Amino acid sequence: MPKSVVIVGANLAGACAAEELRDMGYEGEIHLVGEENALPYERPPLSKDFLYDGLTAEDISLRDNAFYSEKKINLVLGSRVTSIHPDEGKVCLQNDTEIAADNIVLCTGAKLNRLASEFDGIDGIYYLRDLEDSIRLRDALTKGGDVVVVGMGVIGAEVAASASKMGCKVTAIEYSSAPMLRCLGDDLGAWSKAMHEAEGVRVLTNTGLADVKHENGHVTAIETTTGEKIPATIVIVGIGVTPNVELAAAAGIELDNGIVVDMDARTSVSTVYAAGDVTMQPGYYGGKVRLETYDNAREQARCVAASIAGEEQVKRRAPWYWTDQFDVNIQIVGSVNDASDLIYRNRDGERSFTAIALEDSLIVGAVTVNRPQDMGVLRRIADRRIEVDAAKIADDQIQLRTFLSA
Ligand code: FAD
Ligand code: NAP
Repeated sequence: MPKSVVIVGANLAGACAAEELRDMGYEGEIHLVGEENALPYERPPLSKDFLYDGLTAEDISLRDNAFYSEKKINLVLGSRVTSIHPDEGKVCLQNDTEIAADNIVLCTGAKLNRLASEFDGIDGIYYLRDLEDSIRLRDALTKGGDVVVVGMGVIGAEVAASASKMGCKVTAIEYSSAPMLRCLGDDLGAWSKAMHEAEGVRVLTNTGLADVKHENGHVTAIETTTGEKIPATIVIVGIGVTPNVELAAAAGIELDNGIVVDMDARTSVSTVYAAGDVTMQPGYYGGKVRLETYDNAREQARCVAASIAGEEQVKRRAPWYWTDQFDVNIQIVGSVNDASDLIYRNRDGERSFTAIALEDSLIVGAVTVNRPQDMGVLRRIADRRIEVDAAKIADDQIQLRTFLSA
């Protein structure tokens, strides 16, 4: 077994990899190095209850300091790794420190896409990725005002809901034809738009940002690509992310819109692994995918730990994630956005229904709206690749769990 592992990036994937390594009996040194100052924490609350429910940094920490000491995980925070040298078995930190590494694990996540640089420095424009971003945004939203959300992917949809809950007047603009189109597809995207509108959010689709107007350095309005001027005191930008691949690139590791890894989370350099948002991995349904979700970061972290500790590999599951907006919990397994026909259970329930995409009788995607119990069973059906009958699964009177014993 290797004597020293350096994990670069001390957030979800990194911290989980360190913990799993110890749980799997790895006895060598574990160094967990991250450039943020906070203890590894959960990002999902940052766009939701951290904004409107007064949570603290402590509330969202994965573990406390004592945990890392007990597990003999050397947590190095506020420190950027500047280069990795797998051939020489070391990584270099910004303060000229070097750490010996038999294995290196890259969990560097992703950085936010930003508006054109001409808008840099205008007060009132917010981005949301980390704890400090969320604290700044919470302070602004608490004061209230006219909010424009640019981009209605998952971040935009969640933040539009949170800002609205906090009493702000919210307009959201989105390039594509519906909110969260990549997650939900056309039908459910249209449902999501109607749901936000029913809650008072103005949603403009097929619309981009053309200009940001400002006075005395503070935003006053935005202009859309359709020529509309919308008053704004707060602009929140959620236009996607780009994986942090620079360290891997400089080390000559294979890239393809992320760090390419195999089923064991190993990169093209045999002593280097990667996990989380930064990876491009073999997809559960074939092809290659980059997954930007909480569950994936944890699962891949376990995969890395099993590979390094020489444990049996974790059985893969269909990709799954969730989002919470207003009083709606949406969970998604696989992908529904390519489905030409969705099968609905209880579609008349505006905020409580299930949609399923089948391909050759197999579930390739499903979305539950306020039906977490359905998702529990659908994930098991998808994981076991159980064939289902389309007419039967459309019948909400037939319990989903009966398909498990088919
Ligand atoms: P990250 O969490 O991005 O961590 C990477 C870490 O590496 C960062 O701390 C970064 O500072 C550090 N780093 C990068 N480069 C270096 C370097 N050179 N040296 C040292 N450190 C470095 N997913 C869901 O499934 N459901 C949700 O509801 C949900 N909500 C979310 C809400 C928000 C606001 C955000 C931003 C994400 C949300 N996600 C959600 C996605 C989920 O949080 C991410 O998929 C997950 O955090 C990915 O973990 P990661 O460790 O791969 O990357
Ligand atoms: P995203 O899902 O990629 O969505 C970005 C959206 O913005 C897309 O719909 C995009 O449209 C649109 N867009 C891009 N440029 C635009 C512009 N100039 N004007 C208007 N619309 C524009 O990314 P995100 O929502 O920003 O999320 C960022 C990260 O946080 C991701 O890693 C995400 O997974 C994570 N996150 C996850 C959750 C969750 O899973 N619940 C919650 C929050 C955040 P096109 O696609 O047409 O370009």
